[in-house]
Amino acid sequence: MKDYQTLLNRLEASGNLRTLPEVVHRGKFIEKDGNRMLNLSSNDYLGLAANWQLQDTFLEELKKSHLPLSATSSRLLTGNYAVYSEFEKILADAFRREAALLFNSGYHANIGILPALADKNTLLLADKLVHASLIDGILLSGAPFIRYRHNDYDHLETLLARNTGTYEQIIIITESIFSMDGDIADLRQLVTLKKQYPDILLYVDEAHAIGVRGPNGLGIAEEQGCIADIDLLVGTFGKALASMGAYVVCSRLLRNYLINTMRPLIFSTALPPAQIAWSKFLFIRLHQLQPQRNQLARISQTLRDCLAGKGGEISESHIIPFITEENDTTIQQAIRLQRKGFYCLPVRPPTVPKGTSRIRFSLTATITDEEIRELITVLQNN
Ligand code: PMP
Repeated sequence: MKDYQTLLNRLEASGNLRTLPEVVHRGKFIEKDGNRMLNLSSNDYLGLAANWQLQDTFLEELKKSHLPLSATSSRLLTGNYAVYSEFEKILADAFRREAALLFNSGYHANIGILPALADKNTLLLADKLVHASLIDGILLSGAPFIRYRHNDYDHLETLLARNTGTYEQIIIITESIFSMDGDIADLRQLVTLKKQYPDILLYVDEAHAIGVRGPNGLGIAEEQGCIADIDLLVGTFGKALASMGAYVVCSRLLRNYLINTMRPLIFSTALPPAQIAWSKFLFIRLHQLQPQRNQLARISQTLRDCLAGKGGEISESHIIPFITEENDTTIQQAIRLQRKGFYCLPVRPPTVPKGTSRIRFSLTATITDEEIRELITVLQNN
């Protein structure tokens, strides 16, 4: 038998043991062991998850709609409710693309789409820092893959030039806002590269950008003006959209193909129709949330400036790393900040590369300028 206890002990000894934090949520605050802290580790980027007014309005609507709290089946069997297709039409129209398809989560999307589209005749070229869910999708596909240096498009171009013509197609895979460093891919440059070579698809994960960036909150592809040129534009509802689930915006052809081949879509019960209705309810309000996006941008800039030289200079978004390198230092720093009323969490290998342990600040629009100033005072005196 494998000795799981020894393995856990080893994780503990190296400072890598994970546990589920026991916390109580109070809007933008978190309470842990009686200590009330400002949540600086949230993905609720627009503060919608704690907006009770919106939630009450939605629940009133939901009561009248009698939408069920379970689909009780995959959409391919008996679980396909009208609300899915209605929302997919809204998504496709908002992004001005032919089609959209909903999934149960971003994780499902990323582990499902690549294995559906790629086989040994497809080469996958992925940014070195793409999220674990994309790595899992790549591995599940069984397709050959190479990870290009992070945001290094010269490296990517070398790989494209070397491999073009050898495979049926190449899929370039990137995030838009990177989940650990908070820096941003140059999607326009990726589109230019894609157009220089034949048979290339571009896959972009906007998990951390949907809702937060772009004039209508549609993400970095909207901000950079290249939605139309991205073959598979993926986003999640579990972060800024304060719900659950994910989407891909793509051609009608790719949508139809995914419906026929994507295992997490075919073999899993669809999200509850009521949940889809909540995602839809918030998504159609996204364009009105510019004040929240402005506030998030402002406090993010302030914190990035404060952390310049310690990781802040890497970020171009509301995700801001404070790199302390060693696991122990990171953990101690996080504990000190928590004692002072700021809930932030250490991120360690294997989530980030060795020697880059960090506190990952992830800001939300409900945080005030004053609160950020207080955090900065504490950081400067720590
Ligand atoms: N993609 C990225 C870049 C992510 O950071 C995450 C979640 N942390 C996911 C996908 C997974 O999304 P979900 O939480 O909806 O499964």
